[in-house]
Amino acid sequence: MSLVTIYMIPAKSKIELHDPWDRDHLWHPYTSTINPLPTYKVDSAEGVRIRLVDGRELIDGMSSWWCVIHGYNHPSINAAMTEQAKKMSHVMFGGFTHEPAIKLGKMLLDTAPDNMHNIFYADSGSVAVEVAMKMAVQAAVSKSGSHAKTNFITIRSGYHGDTWNAMSVCDPITGMHGAFGSALPIRYFVEQPRVKFGQEWIPEAMNDLEATLSSHHNEIAALILEPIVQGAGGMYFYHPQYLVEARRLCDRYDVYLIFDEIATGFWRTGRMWAWEHCGVKPDIMCIGKGLTAGYLTMSAVLTSKDVADTISRGEAGVMMHGPTFMANPLACAIAIESLRLLQSQDMQSRVAHIESMLKHLLAPASEMPGVNEVRVIGSIGVVEMKRPVDVATFQRRCVELGIWVRPFGRNVYIMPPYVISDSDLTTLAVNMLQIVSEL
Ligand code: PMP
Repeated sequence: MSLVTIYMIPAKSKIELHDPWDRDHLWHPYTSTINPLPTYKVDSAEGVRIRLVDGRELIDGMSSWWCVIHGYNHPSINAAMTEQAKKMSHVMFGGFTHEPAIKLGKMLLDTAPDNMHNIFYADSGSVAVEVAMKMAVQAAVSKSGSHAKTNFITIRSGYHGDTWNAMSVCDPITGMHGAFGSALPIRYFVEQPRVKFGQEWIPEAMNDLEATLSSHHNEIAALILEPIVQGAGGMYFYHPQYLVEARRLCDRYDVYLIFDEIATGFWRTGRMWAWEHCGVKPDIMCIGKGLTAGYLTMSAVLTSKDVADTISRGEAGVMMHGPTFMANPLACAIAIESLRLLQSQDMQSRVAHIESMLKHLLAPASEMPGVNEVRVIGSIGVVEMKRPVDVATFQRRCVELGIWVRPFGRNVYIMPPYVISDSDLTTLAVNMLQIVSEL
């Protein structure tokens, strides 16, 4: 007998599957316990298809929030994970090391900006951001010999995760500052880079950052931002020259530059890393999500030898962080196989193909009355609406039409697994636009 009771919502949406125990006891992301959004029960997933418990299949447009880059249930990643599990699933990283951590580290450094030298394996994207911020503070304190330079500067509409310091550098309006108020450390926010990707550059776009750095650089350890694509804070694409100028200002004012490549990494923007759009090298770089292809949670913080050694020369003499699951061998083995898969293909052409299809397929949306703007970069396609989208209604229609898209705010967006076929991508985009036209 099944331990789980499943019932179907009658009438209009017969397909809306809920689990009453789940509804009463399990918290889903950003969810009310009194009035939770519906959740659809998944049985299994393969390739780009997510199968619900009633047998219905959905074409995945989300890569499970950016991470399932090779599709679900991938045979060679499954095999790599199984092989590693037979040897050891975990061993503490304090006092031990292992081949998966070393091999992955070498592979990562081979793809990273050439000034990157040291790697810190962390648990999740948010923790990587915490670690990066701690690194910047430790390095700034060590370098200056004073505790004055410990604050951060960032750009509006950013998103860096849900832990305390990560929240503090999320956009103050669209982020969680309202809910946590003065409990969060106060950071410097400058205007969102106003020149969009593909538009003509104007030097005035740097005025706010320049003025704020010029007045407050003595208090600031680092500038943190998502290069080129701002994700959950607004799905906004900006001009690469902003990063070139930001690097120049950081150098002038002795402020570290942190790139949060957690969403943009692993070819999502059409390059392995978004920094490649401008050639600017950060001092510290956070990666996550696609790192383990959606199999296990792991992230990494990469940094220059200068930052790493400055931390080590400081008062503490060590980097002050050491999570239990650091460099988990299973996660490393998965990441190695995921990177090998990326390296065995012409990813530039693959993502360029997805990009040109998305541009073509989403273009009709710009004529729709409720739509504000359509934009595409790499394998990310965004339809920005004029008004916020009702997620429950949108997702019910997605399930009815056999696709999976989860909008937030005014943005309806997709970033499918790279293995998606042309016909599945067409069905995904056409059905998504059908729902957009009904809004
Ligand atoms: N930084 C960016 C740019 C992100 O998009 C996210 C996740 N959406 C995070 C950090 C936080 O990652 P995680 O959810 O793995 O903690």
